[in-house]
Amino acid sequence: MECGSPAAAFLFDRCRGAKKVKPIRTIIIGGGFAAVKFAKTLRSKLRHSDCEIVLFNRENHMVFHPLLADVAGASLNVDSAAAPLRQMLPGVGCRTERVQRINLDTSEIAYEDENGSLAHLHFDHVVVACGADSNLAIIPGMTEHAFAFKVMRDAIDLRQHIVRQMEKAEATADPVRRRHYLSFIIVGAGFSGVEVGGEINELVRSSTRFYHNFHKEDVKVTLVHSQDQVLPEVAPTLREFARKKMEKAGITILLNARAVSATQEGVQLKDGRVLDGATIVCTIGTTTSPLVQNLEVPKEKGRIRTTPDMRIEGQTNAWALGDCALIINDYDKKPALTTGQLAEREGRQAALNLVRILNGEPTKPFRFKNLGQLCSIGGYNAVAEMFGMHFSGFIAWFLWRSVYLFKLPTWSRRIKVSLDWAWDLVFPRDLGFLSTDEAQQLTHAYFRPGDFVHHQGDPARLFSIVEEGEVEILQSREPNAEPKLVAVLGKGDFFGEGALLGNHPHETSIRARTVVRLGQIGSELFSQITGSFTPMRELLTKAITRQGSDIWRRLPLAKSLLEDLPLASLLDPPPQLLHKDNTVADAVRALNEGSSGELIIVDENQHFWGTFDRDELYRVIARMAVSSTVASDLPIQQKLGDLVSPSRVYITLDDSTLVAAATMLDHGTSWIPVVRSKSDLQPVGTLRGDKISYRLVQKLDRNSQPPQTQQASAAT
Ligand SMILES: Cc1cc2nc3c(=O)[nH]c(=O)nc-3n(C[C@H](O)[C@H](O)[C@H](O)COP(=O)(O)OP(=O)(O)OC[C@H]3O[C@@H](n4cnc5c(N)ncnc54)[C@H](O)[C@@H]3O)c2cc1C
Repeated sequence: MECGSPAAAFLFDRCRGAKKVKPIRTIIIGGGFAAVKFAKTLRSKLRHSDCEIVLFNRENHMVFHPLLADVAGASLNVDSAAAPLRQMLPGVGCRTERVQRINLDTSEIAYEDENGSLAHLHFDHVVVACGADSNLAIIPGMTEHAFAFKVMRDAIDLRQHIVRQMEKAEATADPVRRRHYLSFIIVGAGFSGVEVGGEINELVRSSTRFYHNFHKEDVKVTLVHSQDQVLPEVAPTLREFARKKMEKAGITILLNARAVSATQEGVQLKDGRVLDGATIVCTIGTTTSPLVQNLEVPKEKGRIRTTPDMRIEGQTNAWALGDCALIINDYDKKPALTTGQLAEREGRQAALNLVRILNGEPTKPFRFKNLGQLCSIGGYNAVAEMFGMHFSGFIAWFLWRSVYLFKLPTWSRRIKVSLDWAWDLVFPRDLGFLSTDEAQQLTHAYFRPGDFVHHQGDPARLFSIVEEGEVEILQSREPNAEPKLVAVLGKGDFFGEGALLGNHPHETSIRARTVVRLGQIGSELFSQITGSFTPMRELLTKAITRQGSDIWRRLPLAKSLLEDLPLASLLDPPPQLLHKDNTVADAVRALNEGSSGELIIVDENQHFWGTFDRDELYRVIARMAVSSTVASDLPIQQKLGDLVSPSRVYITLDDSTLVAAATMLDHGTSWIPVVRSKSDLQPVGTLRGDKISYRLVQKLDRNSQPPQTQQASAAT
């Protein structure tokens, strides 16, 4: 085995020598299983005078992940699964700061200090143990609508949300909404998915006796799993036991089912099924932290590759441990699993290896035989594999609790958790929640084409800004009448302000025309912003009066004339089409050759991608001039697709002239592209505002003439 570097050994000898020199500094990044075990072991082996240990973690506590599901299910108090690092690690300098960069050449880390400025600290050894982050972006809509399940905040927010859904179910008179509030979808049936599914089921079903408006039969907990068995990590007999027990407890398990999107109404599966549910928990999808992503060292699937003694490949004084590292286990010669059990062992063995290096001894490879797996499945049941033996049911559950109680980092936590669990055996789970008022929040929402954001007549709750895609504004003249499309809004547009400022229900419905992402501000936060910032209020008031859909409501005659005016009769042929890979120079030439000063940009399928006109060209040139160092260096060979963020709003041949006019007014444009249909975005022409106005004036003129004159003009 490789020996410790002589330089390090020399350094250590100097530390221990007669002349007092500074102790070596070991910086640990992370405060999870691996980091804490490393720090504890190193502190127990080296004196303060020999080694200064500084541990940087984003939070001031260590999260004991196996108990997160109990926190979400209210069988544990929120602070029981989090242990304060400085109380756990006496003799270690604990810093609650985020490390931004590691410079392995200069042996320095850069971190965000308490004022948010960048500070630097030198190290003799650095340990990267910053785990993995949740990555909900792997499924569209999950970031906006699902709960991740990784940090304390996730468990606390989820618990609050579950209790809130029960309160909503109690309050509503609508049985469909009641079932919606009581439907919970968990994506992923690995350890965390099964544990949190079991806990949610237990919490909600056991709490129904405190509510009058719903019963156990109204509760639906669904586990969605892409494989053909739950808990792929345990033996087949235990998986089967877990599945049967959970189904008996009322949990629906959908196997071979892949979630493809999420909205505020639920989850869509790959086979087209849509699962209704007001709560989505996404337990799949992880990514390495930005710190690891920016570290230029050998990696595999995002994890840092290490030598057998857990030093980063190619480094002598940098180590990587836990979920962020790819360590080959000498026991089976396979990459070590990303579990807390393995992370802890890695932490201990890496610390011992560092001590060996400092003593000038050879290091040892990481070698560990997995002791087993434990997973709680709810209802005082668990499955366990320990030392080659299998346990299931209550015995496994008892084992699960005993093992994790014993593994908790401090005695105070152990006592706290055992008291919570004892309490939970006797008393009902706590249904109190701190109000996290939706009206005070800034959130994001995802909608599939055809989904409604709100309906006409709904109370105003949110101010929304379109971040991506397009929405349609629909309006019914009479209650129960078929709603008609009155305008289209695109990226950067907003809606909901009229109803919020006027304190009345929505006068239109909003429906997603494409995939749509919205930024949404709750009603109270919106009132605070508009109340305290007069310019913002004035801007929104102006926007309301500008809105096309609103203007036509106040001009009923013009509105009905426009509705009856066939769009096809006003259509101009499409201007020159440019591809988004065409350059700015191509666009300049095309604008120069054409007479309209407008271009339509298409994608590789010849589908509408955006518009480009002279105004946009001037904006692009101005931007280029600002970013170019020399004026003559304007990068005119840049692709339009990379440079332009064009207006993506269009109308279809099926839309009415009223929709076209309202949409142009909303966007302050004098023309709008027309495509064949919503499903076929091939450009078929353009509509011009002046042409519509001219035909409108003609019609209004005719309408205002006395009947005889109208007949005469009809005869001519
Ligand atoms: C819900 C759930 C249940 C689980 N159940 C089990 C189980 O029953 N048994 C089991 O063995 N494993 C379980 N695991 C897996 C286990 O928790 C992980 O494998 C383990 O936590 C990995 O430890 P770690 O030290 O590598 O990272 P973590 O424990 O994730 O700790 C990493 C720490 O680094 C911090 N950090 C990240 N970036 C920075 C930065 N730039 N600056 C400062 N700090 C930073 C983070 O805030 C975090 O505190 C579970 C995981 C989850 C999510």
